[in-house]
Amino acid sequence: MARIVKKFGGTSVADMERIRAVAARVKKAVDQGDQVVVVVSAMSGVTNQLVGYVTEASSLYDAREYDAVVASGEQVTAGLTAITLQEMGVDARSWLGWQVPVHTTDAHGSARIEEIDTKLLEERLNIGQVAVIAGFQGIGPDNRITTLGRGGSDTTAVAFAAALKADRCDIYTDVDGVYTTDPRIVTSAAKLDAITYEEMLEMASLGAKVLQTRSVELAMRYRVPLQVLTSFEDLPGTMVVDEEDIVEQAEISGIAYSSDEAKITVEQVADRPGVSAAIFGPLADANINVDMIVQNVGAADNTTDVTFTVPRADMERSVAVIEGLADELKYKSVASNDKVVKVSVIGVGMRSHAGIAAKMFATLAEKGINIQVISTSEIKVSVLIADEYTELALRALHTAYQLDAA
Ligand code: ASP
Ligand code: MG
Repeated sequence: MARIVKKFGGTSVADMERIRAVAARVKKAVDQGDQVVVVVSAMSGVTNQLVGYVTEASSLYDAREYDAVVASGEQVTAGLTAITLQEMGVDARSWLGWQVPVHTTDAHGSARIEEIDTKLLEERLNIGQVAVIAGFQGIGPDNRITTLGRGGSDTTAVAFAAALKADRCDIYTDVDGVYTTDPRIVTSAAKLDAITYEEMLEMASLGAKVLQTRSVELAMRYRVPLQVLTSFEDLPGTMVVDEEDIVEQAEISGIAYSSDEAKITVEQVADRPGVSAAIFGPLADANINVDMIVQNVGAADNTTDVTFTVPRADMERSVAVIEGLADELKYKSVASNDKVVKVSVIGVGMRSHAGIAAKMFATLAEKGINIQVISTSEIKVSVLIADEYTELALRALHTAYQLDAA
């Protein structure tokens, strides 16, 4: 017997037919003797619609009431799933966040789970009852409904798996797993059997939007084995696990890209102590997250160029901050460019394989793609290139690291 948390995303509970398919899947596990906790999202599109109503009602809405409205989508699917299970002869009961209860912080709209009281649930699970939990919601210190931020039912599922010491947390979604890169761009992308938490975090933060980033952080902290799989077919998905649980580690696990960056260059600024502090201090004060940075070696005239990237949405604001420093920094000019993409190769295998970065640079050079900025971490090498080369770069790198599906 195993204890398993099964989370179904919006497309998996989009209508009654899909909900019946979910219930049938749950029944199968129950019939095998498993203890099952189901976590559901709202029907696909419903949360967007609810958010739309709220902003239509008021652009300066009260966040507590936003939560009262948007949490309702999950209430509907939890109840419908429980009814459908009962209809199939399975003992099942729905649970809203406040009923469990799931205690959260008071940050309405983006609350964090602080504690899950599992006493009642344990009792029900032990008598063989299926718990159907409304994802994405909890109860705040003010005794009001809170929500966990968009995509938050992934986090609900992992938090329950951790609190109930489940053997596994299955996340059912509309893709059948995690791929080596975006299959819409590289048709030879392959589904991974397994990926480490750390790699998944890098993939998720770079826009591979399979799982909410926070749910992966939580899974890593509590060592919850995760599986990402489709609810439309009976196929094993991708396991997200500890590094020790992966038998053969490839040098690279995946290639991600992000079009969310813009490049800013401060040209011919004095090459003297304190210049970087003078540039990046005010950007930080303006709450702008700088990602990649490169500074050239000083030229004969004792000036240098400083290039960095910021979120694309903050490009104009960043330029304004730098322009405000013109008198102090006495640079020649400031240039900005949002026609860039950040391409990253990711893999814990980098810790033990040499030459990963060199291979990336050589591959791009061979295709005549200029690298504008480079940054590295222990398990990632990222380059900034012109966005017109996104596809070419992804395909070439995918082949170079031997990731193409057989
Ligand atoms: N229904 C919520 C959303 O659309 C939570 C979730 O689906 O994870 O963001
Ligand atoms: Mg989701």
